[in-house]
Amino acid sequence: MRIAVIGTGYVGLVTGVALSEIGHHVTCIDVDPSKVETLSNGIPTIYEPGLEALMKKNTAAGRLAFTAVHSEGLSEAAVVYIAVGTPKRADGSANLDYVESAAKDIARNITQNVIVVIKSTVPVGTNFHILNVINTNTKPGIQVKIASNPEFLREGSAVKDTFHGDRIVIGAEDEATADILAEINAPFNMPILKTDISSAEMIKYASNAFLATKISFINEIANICESLGANVEEVAKGMGFDHRIGPDFLKAGIGYGGSCFPKDTNALVQLAGNNHHDFNLLKSVIEVNNNQQILLIDKILSRFGSLAGKRVAVLGLAFKPHTDDLRESPALVMIPKLAELGADIIAYDPIAIGNAKKQIKEAIAYTEDLPSALQNADFAVIITDWPDVKKINLSAYNQLMNDPIVFDGRNCYSLDAVKQETIEYYSIGRPD
Ligand code: NAD
Repeated sequence: MRIAVIGTGYVGLVTGVALSEIGHHVTCIDVDPSKVETLSNGIPTIYEPGLEALMKKNTAAGRLAFTAVHSEGLSEAAVVYIAVGTPKRADGSANLDYVESAAKDIARNITQNVIVVIKSTVPVGTNFHILNVINTNTKPGIQVKIASNPEFLREGSAVKDTFHGDRIVIGAEDEATADILAEINAPFNMPILKTDISSAEMIKYASNAFLATKISFINEIANICESLGANVEEVAKGMGFDHRIGPDFLKAGIGYGGSCFPKDTNALVQLAGNNHHDFNLLKSVIEVNNNQQILLIDKILSRFGSLAGKRVAVLGLAFKPHTDDLRESPALVMIPKLAELGADIIAYDPIAIGNAKKQIKEAIAYTEDLPSALQNADFAVIITDWPDVKKINLSAYNQLMNDPIVFDGRNCYSLDAVKQETIEYYSIGRPD
């Protein structure tokens, strides 16, 4: 099948590469010519384990190409995926400008019948709106079908998730369109759910909202555990044995971030509100999440009183390990707050520093070397549970820091291991 993918971000690039790996001929289109040039040279523009090798392999096999010219990428495509961003607007709703602009790009440039597949996360009703945008802007006589195929990959394991995910959801108006998409995806060997378009759009939001709810729920339990002397880790373990609950997404911490949960939960609250439904539960999930970072700052302040002149090692910038993405990372809340309180900050991250420098305005120091971050620090704050942070020999805190005081926002260490060292250790929902 000849396929075009519009947008070469985390979703578009991984989708394009994966579709080429299962044998399709894919052209990835992006409006950013510098991205296209880098990709055409075989260099991934994002960090995702396993991506580079697959990209190189399929480009060399002639199944994968990149272009900034829509007419070139769209010519001969039977199926066009839209995988552009849908960021959060100031009022919390999803910004559909990029999807609309991609739709107009398709409309103006196609000369053949196509199926347009929306992979971007979009509010219920958007697929029909986009079909309308394409039909109004394209040449008469061209038949366009629309389908919703929401994406469930996670950054940091995007390639693995694409080949070994839990399900593929296909929302289409007619059986024939759904069948073509099922055939395209068949080599992924995953359960395929065919449904109507509105339900497919909602499945994505409901899934992310549910996962965010699990995280805020356990974080709220963690906060209560702190007041009562219980250990949230034991509580989560005990809950997780119950197969109706399950052990995943019950890890307490400083809250979720990333390009999806914060924007999708807000967009669902907006979508519900626009339809006269006050989604109080989800509003609380968002509020609990926003508060988690403030609670850690409060904990630090109650330990020190003042942070003026204190040297702090911030361990991790990315919103989670194995990605260079900082979108909505707790680091973007914690660093300005620590800086405002007068702390002298050195931030460690193995791969996200380039992106961090574009987003963090405060004058702070950066290092990709974990021991250098800890050297002479007065305290450390763990924001991302990078493997090297988790695996560090705990004695390093004692050896390198001025004072071995650690505020662990990700519960990286067992309390038993910490007790073997002379570290002052504060974590989330566990006894200090
Ligand atoms: P991204 O911001 O990383 O990438 C979007 C890309 O689209 C950019 O490279 C941009 O230059 C390009 N673009 C914008 N308009 C274009 C146009 N008209 N023509 C060609 N290219 C265009 O976005 P992302 O993180 O990949 O997310 C894409 C969508 O997938 C979003 O709706 C998001 O919610 C959803 N999603 C993301 C993830 C994730 O983990 N990132 C997971 C599941 C779903």
